[in-house]
Amino acid sequence: MVSAFDNAMKQLDQVAPFLGKEYIRGLKLLRFPQKILSKKISIKTDNGKNKSFQAYRIQFNDARGPYKGGIRYHINVSEDEVKALSFWMAVKCAVVGIPYGGAKGGIVVDPSTLSRGESQRLTFAYADFIAPYIGPWIDVPAPDVNTDGQIMAWLLEAYEKKVGYQAPATFTGKPIELGGSQGRTEATGLGGVTVLKEFLKKCPTSPRLRGTKLAVQGFGNVGYWFAHFAQKEGFKVVAVSNSKGGIYNSKGLDIDKLIDSFKSNITNEELLALPVDILVPAALENAITKENADRVRAKVVFEMANGPTTPEADEILAKRKIDVIPDVLTNAGGVTVSYFEWAQNLNGYYWEKEEVLNKERKIMIKAFNDIYQLVKEKKITYRKAAFILAIKRIIDAMMLRGRV
Ligand code: GLU
Repeated sequence: MVSAFDNAMKQLDQVAPFLGKEYIRGLKLLRFPQKILSKKISIKTDNGKNKSFQAYRIQFNDARGPYKGGIRYHINVSEDEVKALSFWMAVKCAVVGIPYGGAKGGIVVDPSTLSRGESQRLTFAYADFIAPYIGPWIDVPAPDVNTDGQIMAWLLEAYEKKVGYQAPATFTGKPIELGGSQGRTEATGLGGVTVLKEFLKKCPTSPRLRGTKLAVQGFGNVGYWFAHFAQKEGFKVVAVSNSKGGIYNSKGLDIDKLIDSFKSNITNEELLALPVDILVPAALENAITKENADRVRAKVVFEMANGPTTPEADEILAKRKIDVIPDVLTNAGGVTVSYFEWAQNLNGYYWEKEEVLNKERKIMIKAFNDIYQLVKEKKITYRKAAFILAIKRIIDAMMLRGRV
């Protein structure tokens, strides 16, 4: 089993040679989360039995601001995974320069086996568990894999009941009716397409935009909205997949027709090896490994999932001159609009969608260009450049606070 956290630490190790020796202690501290919350939470199932589920919230680092990051409901959630994801959140927030640290939460559960009532009770139990450790200036959770606005609404209700006052800025990704932001649902996908367009504009050797072929692995909130906006911009999305399998048509797919269901004609592994220009892993960690990196035929791997490429696969792809545009940049549009949601909640004043999306685009384009400059200047990969920028920002904040 590949450890996501080991992979995250290998990524961290790669930045050490680029930072001065005053960063060494900070780099050591960044190998440990500040707080690990782990608990078995239990609910009454619909048939009256008690059932317990392992739950986590890991607060990795809060030097740059309150902890921030999603909550995942998935059967493969583990302490190792949540730890890696919480570290990547800290890196991601630093990459786009928003004032947050990093955290992540999760419950080991297959949500498709829960009724709506069970899902609500489980979410209430989770809120009960994390309530003492969260808040607008402590830790601000959000949706992640298999969680959405409804889950955020239940978390908010349970949290507010407990503390006794309205506190919408405690969670982001809420429904609009409960203080959510315009544009939050589609923000991650839109941010990704914004970065992809900027990347293609900057790189004369990379494929042209119109007619460029994309294959997208994962068709959840991130994969769907990414594919939707990519198609709208003139890219040809030739394949998408979900956990059961994928659909491929070399002439292009009509993304919005696939939302409810599609008939698979390829496997997820086959999708990774399709003859496309850009491969977009938008599902889970460890999709591209040393076992399959040789089979990738795309010219660019554009990561929309968190941690989809292992460090070994990264090396193979770099040797093959395949650019990997890293998750901590490409999928940061989600948490960027989460930041806007939080800011709107704290002000009690709400923005129009165009304002939200324009501000998001501006942040994503700036983050890409900061990284691009470093890539050119130091002749390094995009991931290394993103990590150098982010880790330096995090350790600078730790030093200013006197933690290092
Ligand atoms: N779960 C999302 C991510 O991995 C969003 C986190 C957030 O908005 O706090 O970036």
